[in-house]
Amino acid sequence: MTTKQKALFIIFGGTGDLAQRKLYPSLFNLYKKGFLNENFAVIGTARRPWSNDHYQDVVRNSISGMEDTAQQANEFASHFYYQSHNVTDTNHYVTLFELAQKLDEKYQIGGNRLFYLAMSPHFFGTICEHLRSQNIVTANGYNRVIVEKPFGHDLASAIQLNDDICKFFPEEDVFRIDHYLGKEMIQNIAAVRFGNNLFKALWNNRYIDNIQITLSEALGVEERAGYYETSGCLRDMVQNHILQIVALLTMNAPVTFSDVDIRQEKISALKALQVYTPQEVKENFVRGQYTQGNGQVGYRQENQVAKDSVTETFVAGKLHVNSMSFAGVPIYVRSGKRLATKGTRIDVVFKNMPNNIFDCGQILPNVLTFNVDPIPAMSLRLNSKAVSQEGYGIEDNTLTYTHDNALRAQTPEAYEKLLLDALKGDATNFTHWQEVYYSWRFVDAIRQAWDQEKIDVETFPNYECGSMGPKAAFDLLAKDGNHWEFDPCHEG
Ligand code: NAP
Repeated sequence: MTTKQKALFIIFGGTGDLAQRKLYPSLFNLYKKGFLNENFAVIGTARRPWSNDHYQDVVRNSISGMEDTAQQANEFASHFYYQSHNVTDTNHYVTLFELAQKLDEKYQIGGNRLFYLAMSPHFFGTICEHLRSQNIVTANGYNRVIVEKPFGHDLASAIQLNDDICKFFPEEDVFRIDHYLGKEMIQNIAAVRFGNNLFKALWNNRYIDNIQITLSEALGVEERAGYYETSGCLRDMVQNHILQIVALLTMNAPVTFSDVDIRQEKISALKALQVYTPQEVKENFVRGQYTQGNGQVGYRQENQVAKDSVTETFVAGKLHVNSMSFAGVPIYVRSGKRLATKGTRIDVVFKNMPNNIFDCGQILPNVLTFNVDPIPAMSLRLNSKAVSQEGYGIEDNTLTYTHDNALRAQTPEAYEKLLLDALKGDATNFTHWQEVYYSWRFVDAIRQAWDQEKIDVETFPNYECGSMGPKAAFDLLAKDGNHWEFDPCHEG
């Protein structure tokens, strides 16, 4: 059912990349589908001295090709207003207050406000403080703050950032975006786990041998090198996206399918992550950096990257979840740039048969795969009889369900889904502060161990562009007698 939403969006960073590439197209889709209608308006703010007309041109540009008619695009853009604003200047909040009141009345919004902080996190505290002190929050509607990653640089800075926001907005009004949680196949994990008795029964350390998560990118750092040099892959991908996926795969069943209960179980799953000692980091984590190969330059040759940079563009690791259900099940994760292919994939590898009664070589374990990107699909590898006139051979076959082109065309983009959730006040697919806390606690231990360990310059950078990372990432599984199920360099 399409429920019409009433809301005033105030987007801080309204001229930025995120707003133009993700937010305006997502809002337009919600408009086309009728979730946003007459009763909404958007105030975009940033320092640039743009006029409303220019801002509306920018909005129209960002949705170009998505509109059914020019009139539809014009009507949508007419709900957008621009205010030139330095977020550190108190006077600007005075004019913002007046504009917000005017638009609330004009569009009969009823006081509902969404403050989207699409800018550097070091401004979040200032913005939140001014929203309260200048009465831009309303008494008659909801007031929700949406914040982007990165949420902190380490645990200490994340605590500080959270305090800065939560001094002015309670936890239930803070919506921390992790756009992976808006992806269909990530949301599908809960459906498969808690909607099928088959998997409910098997989803534990008695039947699961190991879990593998790969977030692989074919691109390099592109224009984000400045940020990436201070972040690296561990902070950029593991702390948020990968650990969120780990939580969804290893949490216990929630009592109800509500945001409160689901997030409670995710918090417990992340709390159960074994925080490594420096020696355990050495044994369980691998870092890498791409070097030139396959026609691409190495990381150190990219613009804005130090010639002797030791920033990791690749991470592989083995995690231990110390819960009743998952103790003893290795969770292998990896992510990197300039790898062989772009793809997000999860493989749940079940324990093999305890005994092979067939007169054949080794039989393969069952594997349940979630293909998240680029093509959403799910598959299950089973063993079955090989067709033959004589004898009884066993072969593995894979049952696959793929979202076809028609379904993919209808699938809302992650930001569109998350924006609608935020409008409805459903926090299921946003990260709770305690999830962030336990994720940083785990990641900080690795980061600190790495920062104290001198990198061997002879062996770093250590993987070629177009490969699937350094050899050590393969050895990590091999020493347990395992291998990466997802191996695009050797797929037929
Ligand atoms: P961006 O393109 O650099 O945009 C930053 C915005 O902040 C601009 O609109 C800029 O406009 C405004 N701004 C900067 N200083 C200001 C000030 N003192 N007062 C008012 N406005 C100010 O960055 P972005 O890529 O959109 O990213 C925004 C946030 O989202 C960042 O925290 C980023 O890490 C996060 N994020 C982005 C993406 C993405 O795909 N882009 C993905 C995930 C997370 P003026 O220069 O006109 O002031």
